[in-house]
Formats: sequence, C-alpha cells, structure tokens
Amino acid sequence: MTNKGLLIVVSGPSGTGKGTICKQLLNAVSDLKLSVSATTRAPRADESQGVNYSFIDKQQFETMINEHELLEYAKVYDNFYGTPKKYVVDEINKGNDVLLEIDIQGALQVKEKYPEGVFVFILPPSMKELKKRIVSRGSETEDSLNKRYKSATEEISFVREYNYLIINDEVDMAVEKLKAIISAEKCKITEDVEEVITKFKEEMKC
Ligand code: 5GP
Repeated sequence: MTNKGLLIVVSGPSGTGKGTICKQLLNAVSDLKLSVSATTRAPRADESQGVNYSFIDKQQFETMINEHELLEYAKVYDNFYGTPKKYVVDEINKGNDVLLEIDIQGALQVKEKYPEGVFVFILPPSMKELKKRIVSRGSETEDSLNKRYKSATEEISFVREYNYLIINDEVDMAVEKLKAIISAEKCKITEDVEEVITKFKEEMKC
C-alpha cells in the first residue's frame, strides 16, 4: 500500500540454509534486489567480487564505518560484515523491495533504525541437521566449524526479536513461505491507507 519498497531481513544461525533460500527467492522474484554486503573475509573458491560480497580490507571497512556509509555492521567469526546504506535507502525509496541476508547482531541494528522492516528468522529442523549441514559444506576449518555451532546454540533465543520464523525442512517449501510473507506484508494496512480512502472517495464523486 505504501510507495516504499519492503526491507526484508533474513537471518539465522550458520548452516540453516538461509543462503540457498535467499538465492532461490532472488531467482523466483525478479524485481527483488539483493543488498551486497561488504566484508573483510577472504573470498571462497566459488565467490566473486561484487556478486557475493564486496571484499575489502580492514582499513577500507573502517573508513566505511567512519564515513557512516553502513546501515549496520558486525564482527562475525573474526571478520567484519556490513550493509552499505546508500543502495538500500535508494532502492527502497524507488519502491523496490530489498533483501538483506545478515547475521543477528546486524539484524537487531537494522530493526532499531528501521522497525518497519520485515524480519525473518530461519532455523533448521534440528541441531543435528544443522551440524550435518555445516560439515557437508566443507568450507570450514575444525575451529571455524565449532565456533559456528556454538554461536548457533546462543543465537536461537534471538528468534523472539523477529516477525516470522521459517523452519527449513525443505528448501522449496521454505522459499514458498518467504514469498507468502512478502505478499502478505505488501497487503498490510499502514498509515498510507488514508491515500487509498481519499482516492476511492474522489472517484465516487465523479
Ligand atoms: P559467511 O562468511 O558464511 O558468508 O557469512 C557469515 C555470516 O555473516 C552469516 O550469518 C551472514 O548472514 C552474515 N553476514 C553476511 N553479510 C552480512 C552483513 O552485511 N552484515 C552482517 N551483520 N552480517 C552479515
């Protein structure tokens, strides 16, 4: 009902499959924009600059913080990650929906600044499944894997701060649920409903 686009924030512990869900959602919904985060983490073999992340060094990241160019940022597993503000603000103001796939610390910062965002938490069906998924990814060292598993246990209680929870038993179903959430949010009545009422009243006068 509003002219602004939706800000959809997806997070959840590592290994929940949120990356796969977001990728499929972006393929299915052509006008949804992905916010490409900046990170100090090194690219993985299948990642490229500007597509998965904007890979920058710590000094560049600090400059972005000091110049207030980040909507939020956090240190996650020894690396910094942040959402460039300008892209998100510009797209939302143009009426485009924007997807952020960010960690919980970052999502809470966004919620503080932009509570009208749609906050979606993704969980795996069980902790056993979560461990299996992190291991099968094969990209983590033993230390990193243990860190991710430990954080997952701590992060689960933050689900209370979100608007929606999706249990990812099956990716296609999880994507459908996310699409349904977006559709419902677009039909939600906001203060902009006054414009709709005025428009209909004007039309009735003719
Ligand atoms: P990965 O290193 O596996 O790509 O990401 C590690 C974690 O960082 C994931 O939970 C991911 O959602 C999160 N992340 C990615 N981009 C951002 C960002 O811009 N801000 C924050 N706060 N977290 C991010």
